[in-house]
Amino acid sequence: MEMRRFSYWESELPPEPLPPRDLPRRVDRLIVGAGFMGRWLAYFLSKRAQPARTLVIDRDRFSYGASSRNAGFLTCGQVSEMLSDVQHAGIDSVVDTFLQRRQGIAIVRREFPDFDIEDCGSTDYDEVTDDKRELLAQLNQAAGEEIYTVRAGRIGNDVRPTVFNKADGALHPVKLMRVLQGRASSAGFEFGVKALRVAEGKAELETPAGRHELEYGRAFICTNSFAGELDAASDVQPGRGQVIVTSPVRTRTDRTLGYLNAGYDYFRFVDDRLLLGGGRDRFKAEHGTRELRPTEEVREYLKQVAAEVLGHDDWQVEHQWAGIMGFVGGKHLGGSPRRKIDDRTEVIAGFGGMGVALTPLVAERIVMEDLV
Ligand SMILES: Cc1cc2nc3c(=O)[nH]c(=O)nc-3n(C[C@H](O)[C@H](O)[C@H](O)COP(=O)(O)OP(=O)(O)OC[C@H]3O[C@@H](n4cnc5c(N)ncnc54)[C@H](O)[C@@H]3O)c2cc1C
Repeated sequence: MEMRRFSYWESELPPEPLPPRDLPRRVDRLIVGAGFMGRWLAYFLSKRAQPARTLVIDRDRFSYGASSRNAGFLTCGQVSEMLSDVQHAGIDSVVDTFLQRRQGIAIVRREFPDFDIEDCGSTDYDEVTDDKRELLAQLNQAAGEEIYTVRAGRIGNDVRPTVFNKADGALHPVKLMRVLQGRASSAGFEFGVKALRVAEGKAELETPAGRHELEYGRAFICTNSFAGELDAASDVQPGRGQVIVTSPVRTRTDRTLGYLNAGYDYFRFVDDRLLLGGGRDRFKAEHGTRELRPTEEVREYLKQVAAEVLGHDDWQVEHQWAGIMGFVGGKHLGGSPRRKIDDRTEVIAGFGGMGVALTPLVAERIVMEDLV
């Protein structure tokens, strides 16, 4: 088995999975997958006046997909990417997703006002075209405030016109996942437990102690790019994202979130290091794979981009990892993450590169309608 390559955020994970406990034979709500989606659902279920008996399981010791291995951008989107989304998904879908991401960000802030969010904004360094100016005016109008402005931005040795988004921020994803688990007080979390079959009120689980059967009232399958293993008709397709983190580094680059190459390449600063991800559009092997192994080719590409971002190459790569995103229909935008398998079982998966902002909104909506 491939050795786990820990993400920067995962350095604080327990070294070994917790020993398995006795699993219940029946629960009201079963959540498969303890990424952001599963944890936000468990959190909102726990907040209900009469919390349901909820069990969250994950086959990993913590979570092993996208949530603990992403970039931690709490973002409502950047204009270059949205401009290209307009071509295939249409302006209404782009504006709607932008507003949903804004609502999701507002939920994170509302539910955890003391949680550390770096209010750094984001900068889109691609050329500012007339099309972009038009789109940012539409987005500002939809938001009812001036979120996007054109201003000079510094990247490496260059100063250029950029689109700045004042509403975006950054967080430590694993810290937020832990907070969610801690506050999901009525939910039990069991790790190292894999769902083999979940349908029509019955789940078959594989645990370190052997097979276990469980009955449930409702189940939510939140396994993202792995949804197809439990739902043969799933149209959630995988895409690997790779990230590097440098040694501590000096630079004159603006300390905002940064986007290049229509959002395919992205960066932020964390503990005086550059965290940079991307390359997915350039390397075929990043599409369709669920393999969590990072590659040498993408590392070399990310190093070139990092030198441009920092303006020099006096640094080393200290971390590299991969995470797997899920895309509904293989597309970045336009599909619904919700798919009913039967009256009791639903898949909630496929947030692409937007799950940090979107999962709280989707979870809150599901729990509001889950009155059974
Ligand atoms: C490199 C990278 C960078 C990203 N950057 C950002 C960003 O900056 N901002 C943003 O908003 N989004 C970003 N994303 C996307 C974001 O991380 C995802 O949209 C989000 O984490 C999805 O959460 P999830 O809970 O749906 O899925 P996941 O986090 O993938 O969780 C699925 C879980 O299901 C578990 N599982 C799978 N099968 C089974 C089974 N049979 N039984 C039990 N457990 C199972 C897995 O172990 C996993 O823990 C990024 C993604 C990647 C890969």
